[in-house]
Amino acid sequence: MGGTYTAWMFPRFSAALREDNLDRLGDCRYDVLVVGGGITGAGIALDAAARGLDVALVERDDLGSGTSSRSSSLVHGGLRYLAQAMFGLTRESAVERDLLRRLAPHLVRPLPFVVPDAGGRRNVALTGLGMWIYDGLASFRNVARHRRLSPTELVDRIPGLVAGVGNAGYEYHDCRTDDARLVLQVARTAHRLGAVVVPRGEVVELREARGRVTGATVQDRVGGREVAVRARVTVSATGVWADEVRALAGDPGPPVLTPSKGVHLVFPARDVRVAAAALVPSAADDGRMVFVLPWDGEVVVGTTDDGYEGPLDMPTVEQADAGYLCAAVNRAFGTDLRPFDAVGAWAGLRPLLASEAHLPMDSETLSRRHAIFDEPDGLLTITGGKLTTYRSMAAEVVDRVVATIGGSAARVRSRTDRVPLGLRGGLAETVARTAGVCAELGLDPALSAPLVDRHGDEAVEVVELAAAVPGGSEPLVAGLPYLRAEARWAVEQEMASTVEDVLARRTRVAIRDAAAGGPAVAEVADVLAGALGWSPHQAAASADAYRRRVAGERGVVPLAHPASADALTRG
Ligand code: FAD
Repeated sequence: MGGTYTAWMFPRFSAALREDNLDRLGDCRYDVLVVGGGITGAGIALDAAARGLDVALVERDDLGSGTSSRSSSLVHGGLRYLAQAMFGLTRESAVERDLLRRLAPHLVRPLPFVVPDAGGRRNVALTGLGMWIYDGLASFRNVARHRRLSPTELVDRIPGLVAGVGNAGYEYHDCRTDDARLVLQVARTAHRLGAVVVPRGEVVELREARGRVTGATVQDRVGGREVAVRARVTVSATGVWADEVRALAGDPGPPVLTPSKGVHLVFPARDVRVAAAALVPSAADDGRMVFVLPWDGEVVVGTTDDGYEGPLDMPTVEQADAGYLCAAVNRAFGTDLRPFDAVGAWAGLRPLLASEAHLPMDSETLSRRHAIFDEPDGLLTITGGKLTTYRSMAAEVVDRVVATIGGSAARVRSRTDRVPLGLRGGLAETVARTAGVCAELGLDPALSAPLVDRHGDEAVEVVELAAAVPGGSEPLVAGLPYLRAEARWAVEQEMASTVEDVLARRTRVAIRDAAAGGPAVAEVADVLAGALGWSPHQAAASADAYRRRVAGERGVVPLAHPASADALTRG
């Protein structure tokens, strides 16, 4: 069996390209240097490149490795902001949600949510009113309008709910994505439009002339060399690290941020029976809701929202976080789940705006606002906001950039509302076309739909690769939908250059498998070694660093021994 894995539809986005791009950083003066390759920075690079600006994007680790791969992955209007009468934010989020659903229909998929009745008639009536406003703010163009669920329909959607949690309820719609792959897709699209993208390039100094920031010194975190990058405007989109980057400019003024930690737990689907996402009250009587999201073969439970003062690089799932989430699920579903029943867990940090900390709002609300700071001259800092609104935030930042640059650039408006993100044709046709290629190459056509979800138009090439390499169409990890060929694809086409890049972000093995990949860890290290010319020692070091990272982040959720992984996760 042999495929035709030769046609490169796009310029290669591989680790080799990273080296070339590092060279290019010093070659010219950029219109804009974007610091930070999370969703905000990737979105800004795409917006600027789509307007025809010369753009460089540098990220000190992997693309999306900060908060943007640790969110709840919801692309949502934010129903709960209505309680604070934040109609503007809800409207903006709803518009962006519906736009993203059109620009990336494979990555941003509708997800029904169910709110069981709680708290008496008045509360139920208020929830109903909120639903009308929510649909209205989306101009009634959401996936579907909300509806009242009968007791039978409620049980149908959320079979595991214990009697009495809600006798009936409401259903409304938002969307779900894979946050890490969304960042990757946006960054790759920026690259395709001309942006120079350099992961593992850390800004270690802001360069200044006559009191103005004129670029930055970027250190290659692989080879160690430093490159001076000249830019007319430098944008820091460094999330919770924004104050650290501002400090590089000398006197940064008071901190703009105060981080808050959010934790998620992942359980096997059999443990919590949901056919739609459910919002259930926390067990702490703090008025907060916890969601339970169906996610292919697992359910994701989230999230906490607490002030955080620990190290920014390694937030950890602690007993109190995991206990809070388990208690909410156990009360609503009559289960007896404990943290060690989880197959995965993660902790992320929200960049909250310190300037709003005095306002009478809880951190849930604060975290979704964004702000742009324009001091010192030549440096724009954006922080806060949501994954959902990254595109409109990016447009706002680039409007400021072009206003600074002046000339003809100032007249060009944002175009990203028309730039598809990885899928040009219709979803159904692409799945059918990819299934046809699978059949031609002797592979199971059922591989097609999940591959299109992850790779859009390029699913066809992934199939060709899977057919061309021995064992390429076999699962990378038993019970998960990722193919062994996708590890190689990640290295050759998605700029993955560590085991963690492949298993934590290009695929989500790190949070979906109790052993975080088990034997696949060594296999992925081998693939990287072959592609990047590593020694056995380098391969082992990358595998070890990945295991340490996952164990550190999971905290109280144990990393199962590989030999017991199948029993734990899928038994
Ligand atoms: P980051 O993703 O953190 O990116 C900043 C990047 O800057 C990092 O990758 C970092 O490595 C890099 N960097 C730092 N310093 C330097 C330097 N010196 N040089 C180069 N690079 C540097 N939003 C939603 O819309 N929907 C949700 O469901 C949702 N759920 C959430 C759940 C949780 C628990 C959390 C914490 C957040 C959630 N959010 C959600 C919010 C959303 O995830 C964030 O707003 C968003 O990811 C922030 O992206 P960012 O690019 O600004 O920051």
